[in-house]
Formats: sequence, C-alpha cells, structure tokens
Amino acid sequence: MSIARDLYQLQEVDTALEANLQAQKKVSAQIGESQLVLKAKTKLAEEQKNLETLTAQQKSTEWEIDDLTNKIKETEKKLYGGKIFNSKELGSLQQETAELKKRRSVFDDKSLGLMDELEALRKAIDSTKDELAKLQTLWQMQQKQFVVELMQLKAAQAVNETNRQQIAALIDADTLFTYQELKKRKGLAVAKVEQGICQGCRITLPNTDLQRARSGGVVRCSSCGRIIFLA
Ligand SMILES: [Zn+2]
Repeated sequence: MSIARDLYQLQEVDTALEANLQAQKKVSAQIGESQLVLKAKTKLAEEQKNLETLTAQQKSTEWEIDDLTNKIKETEKKLYGGKIFNSKELGSLQQETAELKKRRSVFDDKSLGLMDELEALRKAIDSTKDELAKLQTLWQMQQKQFVVELMQLKAAQAVNETNRQQIAALIDADTLFTYQELKKRKGLAVAKVEQGICQGCRITLPNTDLQRARSGGVVRCSSCGRIIFLA
C-alpha cells in the first residue's frame, strides 16, 4: 500500500466523519417539542375558555328569562284575576305586562344567538381536538424515527472513528502533520490524479512527478500543493 493511498482513505474517512456529525446535528435539532402541537394546544385552550364564558352568559340569560316569565305571570294574574276594576290600574298593569314581554323578547333573541354561537364553538372544539390528536400521533412517530436515526448515525460514527485510527496508524507522524495542515488550509489535502491531471486544481502534472508518485513517494502538486494520489 502506498502512503498516498492511505492518505486518500484517511481523507475519505474524515469526510464521512464530518458528514455524519452534520447529520447528527440536523437530527438532534428536530428532537423536542413540536411547534404545531403547541399551537393546536393553545388554540384548544382558548376555545374552551370561550365555551365557559358563553355557557355562563347563556345561563344568566336563561335566568333573566325565567325571572321575567314569573313577573309576567304575576301581572297577568292580577290583570285577569277579576279583582281589579279600576280602569286606570288595569291600564297600568297592561302596560307593565307589555313592557315585561318586550324585555323578555330581547333576552329570548340573545339566548338564541348564544345557542348558535355555542353550537359553532362546540364543533370548532371537536375539530381542534381531532387536529391535535393527529398532530400528536404524527409527532410521536417522527420523534421515534429521529431517535432511531440518531442511534444509527452514532453507531456508524463509532465505526468511522475506529477506521480512522487504524488508517492513521499506518502513516508516519510528519506526513500526518502535513496532511492536517493541508486539510486546514484547503479543505481537502489529497487530490486524485486522472489522466495526468490533478483533480484539485485541474493542472496537468509533469511526468517526473507522476513517476515519483507511482513508485510510492509522497508527491505534492506543484500548483495547488495537495498530495497527489494516482487511483
Ligand atoms: Zn493540484
């Protein structure tokens, strides 16, 4: 095995290690609370609060109606009870009854309006509950998937790390140092050579360099400085 080949393999493992780390970060970021679930929960809480308010309004409206109905009964009893003969008194009782009925009809309308609102709100609550249940099921499934993905990535990373140690052990310290320095500066330290052309900078390499590389030496591209690898 040539050192260039070892270095190239080291580079491939390093690339895999970095890609794996990025993938782990991406998956980790997706583990946690779901914004969509939180939003649906807030919506449901608001709708339930509105339901309480409207129900209370409806009850007090019903009480008003009952109260007025009792008062109307009383005045009508007086009116038709046959005990009052004074026409002025009868007239004022009639007026009182009419006014009470007028007030009650206002509350009746209010009650009907509230009933419509309550019905619409109950439907909205049912649909929000359905939506929330669906979102929670989906979120739980996704979370399980993310946890599995993360475990798989970590297992693959452990293999990458072992591979790296094994390959690095084959390379002498000076060459390893050169590799690290080049990696820091250029991103990729090793460039493949295809048909005599350095794939790092696209320049045609002189034959002498190619021959030295073929015989197993560590040769660097005269243009970009990368270590060349003849595949
Ligand atoms: Zn080059």
